[in-house]
Amino acid sequence: MLIDPFGREIGYVRISVTDRCDLRCVYCMAEHMTFLPKKDLLTLEELHRLGLTLIDQGVSRIRLTGGEPLVRRNILWLIGQLGAEVKAGRLDELTVTTNGTQLRRFAGQLFEAGVRRINVSLDTLEREKFQAITRWGRLEPVLEGVQAAKDAGLKVKINAVALKGVNEDEFDRMLAWCGAEGFDLTLIETMPLGDIEGDRTDQYLPLSRVRARLAERWTLTDIPYKTGGPARYVEVAETGGRLGFITPMTHNFCESCNRVRVTCTGTMFMCLGQEDAVDLRGPLRASESNELLESAIRDGIARKPKGHDFVIDRRRKKPAVGRHMSVTGG
Ligand code: SAM
Ligand code: SF4
Repeated sequence: MLIDPFGREIGYVRISVTDRCDLRCVYCMAEHMTFLPKKDLLTLEELHRLGLTLIDQGVSRIRLTGGEPLVRRNILWLIGQLGAEVKAGRLDELTVTTNGTQLRRFAGQLFEAGVRRINVSLDTLEREKFQAITRWGRLEPVLEGVQAAKDAGLKVKINAVALKGVNEDEFDRMLAWCGAEGFDLTLIETMPLGDIEGDRTDQYLPLSRVRARLAERWTLTDIPYKTGGPARYVEVAETGGRLGFITPMTHNFCESCNRVRVTCTGTMFMCLGQEDAVDLRGPLRASESNELLESAIRDGIARKPKGHDFVIDRRRKKPAVGRHMSVTGG
């Protein structure tokens, strides 16, 4: 078991398998990003070894993310290897967060590999708006991908970042659509991570306001449902579906934080909103046995901070944390 200094059991690891992406969402990346040289990335074999070591140390849930995890070449190999740990009962769950562009191709294979739940990031159901938010994306393949995932038997959760003046008029429609399709929906506040060539104070929309507005039309009842993540859920009586709110800015969710994040270069961040990190790539490459790696993981957990201190402040033009979400892994 990995237990941090505040007594929190760390059973959940999010691993970013690439910093690259086929989209350029405005709140996540700058249009012209410089990506890491391939040699800096952990190989798929190294990611596998890291996953097994984490499982040995008591990690019970792994989420693969990015960048866009499904654009990494041969990623299905890694998913198959970690999925085998689920099938063997050594890992409770393997999940993937994706922008959905590759799902038409991969949904069936994900299910066969042992994945049962995926999160698809989708901020709008309007074609032009989708293009504006993602800069490069097309909505149709994503909607077809979501359908393919449903048909393959994957449980789909839609994640939407709440953007002031951009998609705030759509939450009613998205809630209805998710309800009809049997998808849960989670709304997320923008976080000040990485330079994005724009002003985040213009995008930030507090979810307390969104919830109050939705409550005028829908019957929302707080429920204790937990997926191990930071979302707080309500049940939507009219659809029978669930609606989650991730509110890092308006509500500090750190006290129950059970996770750490590993970047595609093997840097473990103990908190999304802090700079402290430990290098796992060095220990992975230094020896074939896992002792150094295990000890680096334990050192990191022993330094996990109590929480973040994000602020989106008009006077402070710099992001709270310099690295982009696509590096740390959302
Ligand atoms: N490419 C995949 C996707 O979009 O689902 C996985 C990686 S992406 C970085 C993971 C999640 O982080 C997405 O749901 C995205 O909306 C969210 N995200 C990215 N930048 C963010 C920010 N600055 N604030 C809040 N959420 C952000
Ligand atoms: Fe890519 Fe996901 Fe970031 Fe959008 S949110 S740019 S899809 S990594």
